[in-house]
Amino acid sequence: MKIKVAIIGAGPSGLFAARELINKGIECLIIDSGKEALKRECPVSDRNLCLKCDPCQITSGVGGAGALSDGKLNLTYKIGGDPASLKRTPEEIQELIDYVDKVFLEYGVEDKTYGVDGEALEELKRKASKNGIEFISGKQRHIGSDKTKEIIDTFYRDLKSKGVKFLLNTKITDIKKSKDCFILKTDNGDIEAEYVIAAPGRAGAYWLRSQAYSLGIVSIYGPIDVGVRVEFPATIYKPIEKVMYDAKFRLFTRTYDDMVRTFCTNPQGFVTEEMYEGFVLVNGHAKKEEKSGNTNLAVLSRINLTDPVEDTTKYGRSIAKLATTIGGGKPILQRYKDFIKGRRSTWSRIDKGLVKPTLRSVTPGDISMAMPHRIVLNIKEAIDRLNSVIEGIASDSTLLYAPEIKFYDTKYPTSKFMETNLKNMYISGDASGRSRGIIYAAVTGVLAAKGIILKEGK
Ligand SMILES: Cc1cc2nc3c(=O)[nH]c(=O)nc-3n(C[C@H](O)[C@H](O)[C@H](O)COP(=O)(O)OP(=O)(O)OC[C@H]3O[C@@H](n4cnc5c(N)ncnc54)[C@H](O)[C@@H]3O)c2cc1C
Repeated sequence: MKIKVAIIGAGPSGLFAARELINKGIECLIIDSGKEALKRECPVSDRNLCLKCDPCQITSGVGGAGALSDGKLNLTYKIGGDPASLKRTPEEIQELIDYVDKVFLEYGVEDKTYGVDGEALEELKRKASKNGIEFISGKQRHIGSDKTKEIIDTFYRDLKSKGVKFLLNTKITDIKKSKDCFILKTDNGDIEAEYVIAAPGRAGAYWLRSQAYSLGIVSIYGPIDVGVRVEFPATIYKPIEKVMYDAKFRLFTRTYDDMVRTFCTNPQGFVTEEMYEGFVLVNGHAKKEEKSGNTNLAVLSRINLTDPVEDTTKYGRSIAKLATTIGGGKPILQRYKDFIKGRRSTWSRIDKGLVKPTLRSVTPGDISMAMPHRIVLNIKEAIDRLNSVIEGIASDSTLLYAPEIKFYDTKYPTSKFMETNLKNMYISGDASGRSRGIIYAAVTGVLAAKGIILKEGK
């Protein structure tokens, strides 16, 4: 098959790139290893019984990792990426974010926002800064896990009706370069393309890195975020939720002066398990209709490695593997009280607590057996400090799940339009190391498409 632009990955980045291209009449094909959004279903209704499918229904298919997520749309340039790393001003990125938001609204996202300025927001900012914590505010929307698939499906059908081609259930195994085109290898034959936009997300980032290496694409290592998912009674978060649905806090720890941040808060949500090759990670989501009695958020410590070891992915993966080994193939669960006392949790200790875990396919254990001391201490200090803002988070029965790791460490030096040093090869979305969420992933997809549109003189 021959095509002008091949897009690897039907996540938000790939979908938005395709939308831009087709609107300018540029032929494109999206290849994804997963299925259509509405056909994506984790085969077990209880995520505690994960069947370790390949590809994973949670992270693969039309809509990407975002399709089954609860779709918290962060609509400020301050969250999910960094304008400078995209060689853009905050104003330019904000303009693109507003554009992406408009498209989502057209596809049916509810026009309701959180995190707009007000007295309560100012009060929260004051409280945080009094305790040396930065509160990053910004406009947000919340689609809800039970609605996200429908929105993505509307998006997908619109793209198809405009002429975007999709090749689903198809994995790209290799990317080769011939004299005048790229050859994408699949089990069902080769695809030849003049341009490639690689947007395989976090799940495909490691694979892409090896492809980039053989193609001679320059990459650099960046930081990763390692930590835990914290679960506590939903009532504790209520006062903050009124101000900002997914509030972001950032602080520097006293002992190591390391940056720790909260990430992906799910009011009345659920903790989930994600399968990767050789390890498990935790995450969280919240539904619009079905609610739990708990709220969860990630507390993540930033890790940056310098000479002689710079490969943060390798380091993060080895932490994830160690944690998975200690957890007997499952995430580790520990009560905050046990974490502080330095003893392992057991089911009987956990069952005594006020907080009932929403993820039960876990092994009660000791997180400090699985993570470096520096990270454990950073998490302890951070939760203790956060207690001044999220009052009650540092209570005995709070639950910690590990490991939660965000890999966006491999970065590719690119042009302003996401083009790598290899001509006509673009890398966008989370796999580019330049986005950490749906909105920025979409923005980088739009930028890559704009680059091709410019080259094509459209
Ligand atoms: C449980 C969960 C909850 C989340 N909640 C939120 C949230 O509320 N708000 C938010 O902003 N972000 C959230 N995120 C993160 C968000 O989903 C991602 O940042 C975003 O989807 C990244 O978009 P992307 O297009 O770069 O890649 P992805 O969405 O990851 O899509 C990549 C696609 O590429 C495909 N692919 C990979 N490799 C290959 C290959 N070799 N061949 C063919 N196809 C391939 C995959 O199947 C996948 O469909 C969540 C993620 C998870 C897992």
